[in-house]
Amino acid sequence: MSKVHRGGPQLQRLAAAVIDALSAHICVINRNGVIIAVNRAWRNFWQNNSEEQSCADSGVNYLEVCRRAAGPGSEEAPAFATGVRSVLSGKSDLFQLEYPCHSITEARWFLGRATPLDIAQGGAVISHVNITERKFMEFELSRLAATDSLTGSPNRRYFNETANREVERVRRFGASASVVMIDLDHFKSINDNYGHAVGDQVLREFARACKECLRPTDVFARLGGEEFAVLLPGADAAGSMKVAELLRRTIAETTIDSGPAGINVTCSAGVAEILRSDLSIDETLRRADLALYAAKRGGRNRVMQFADRLPGIAPRA
Ligand code: GH3
Ligand code: MG
Ligand code: MG
Repeated sequence: MSKVHRGGPQLQRLAAAVIDALSAHICVINRNGVIIAVNRAWRNFWQNNSEEQSCADSGVNYLEVCRRAAGPGSEEAPAFATGVRSVLSGKSDLFQLEYPCHSITEARWFLGRATPLDIAQGGAVISHVNITERKFMEFELSRLAATDSLTGSPNRRYFNETANREVERVRRFGASASVVMIDLDHFKSINDNYGHAVGDQVLREFARACKECLRPTDVFARLGGEEFAVLLPGADAAGSMKVAELLRRTIAETTIDSGPAGINVTCSAGVAEILRSDLSIDETLRRADLALYAAKRGGRNRVMQFADRLPGIAPRA
């Protein structure tokens, strides 16, 4: 590399070449928001993504472009302009925002950053970095964190989060909603007789058969082991008893294609409506669990609805 002199034309050419080599889209604005320099990635992006090429060149007011971009689906543009203004005015040293910027053909996300330009006239450096790959990894991670790996159903964590939102809806608007707790009968004997792998297969097939009986708005989740729950938004106790009975009958009539001659299983279920007095889904689940326990005590392969006096269960003090 040839020797460069501070501030000389060679250094300027080198600086411009380095900035052009970066994949981040970079522009420099003056204290009024007018673009005074852009790098190649910035220019290419705007030339390929905007019919007006509104931000591709110097002389355009970037804050004005953000203002014009504001609207449904572009809520981030005004927020970004506000952040840039706070950097320009010296109120903050860094503003950054992640935002979606989808094209017709692909989903994309960017990280936009604004930092002060450290010269007497003021101004700011704006950069936009494509973070789509990271965003997809984040989405995949949160999907995995909410999913039971054996059955592919939502897990207890997802169920509790969703059901607690439903509890809020019931408390605020008096809407109807119920939960059904389901437990496979004598499941231990399936493992004992056929092995754990067949037990796993039975759990998968059980989940698949249940989901086929439910509406897309119902949430079927594996709480753990051979215990499952369904959240039924909009269903009162009578409606959810019908759903629970349909699930029970479907499972009892299904032969799971596993083991030498297929396997038949049954399940028991407890139903409880979400009450306006419930502070969280734990309270509803506790009642559904008592009803489930009564169904087990009553001989299994049956559905019970929670009541203050359940057969075989001492009333609560
Ligand atoms: P009940 O009718 O009273 O519910 O009897 P049960 O045998 O179904 O209940 P118990 O709680 O005695 O046994 C549950 C069994 O479920 C024991 C456990 O090994 C098995 N189990 C829990 N999770 C899994 C799993 O992921 N895979 C398999 N194969 N078995 C599991
Ligand atoms: Mg069981
Ligand atoms: Mg159990």
